Amino acid sequence: MNSIIRHVGDCRWDGVPLLNYKEDGTHFKAISRQVLFEGGPKLAAELRYFEIEPGGHSTLERHDHIHSVMVIRGRGHCLVGDAIYEIAGNDLVYIPSMTWHQFRATTEQHLGFLCLVNPVRDRPDRPDESSAAMLKALPKVGEFIRL
Ligand code: MN
Repeated sequence: MNSIIRHVGDCRWDGVPLLNYKEDGTHFKAISRQVLFEGGPKLAAELRYFEIEPGGHSTLERHDHIHSVMVIRGRGHCLVGDAIYEIAGNDLVYIPSMTWHQFRATTEQHLGFLCLVNPVRDRPDRPDESSAAMLKALPKVGEFIRL
């Protein structure tokens, strides 16, 4: 592993490929992924950078594993549980276990964030019909979420 991976501008890092957010397709919009760090056996963590284009969003999901997220570019909003938060540069977001979450960029600006995660993790759940109905019925959350 290199000691330094240089930032080459615009939240791109030297030699780090720009990947699709997920390979499974359909429930997100306009989002890319870069894997910045993989800890291997000495540190059970991966550091990724995600960037959502203006108007885009991540998948609405929940899972047993947790995330620590730091916004480093632009602004947007996130759903965590039953609350929606405005987020911008250097804000930290904690996503607890089995908690519905979704990130959205504003319509004018990108939203870029670092996300720390365990490399050994369960597959995300997406809302079934009853969870979707429950989320849609919550104040503000109903208008915010993108299924
Ligand atoms: Mn997640």
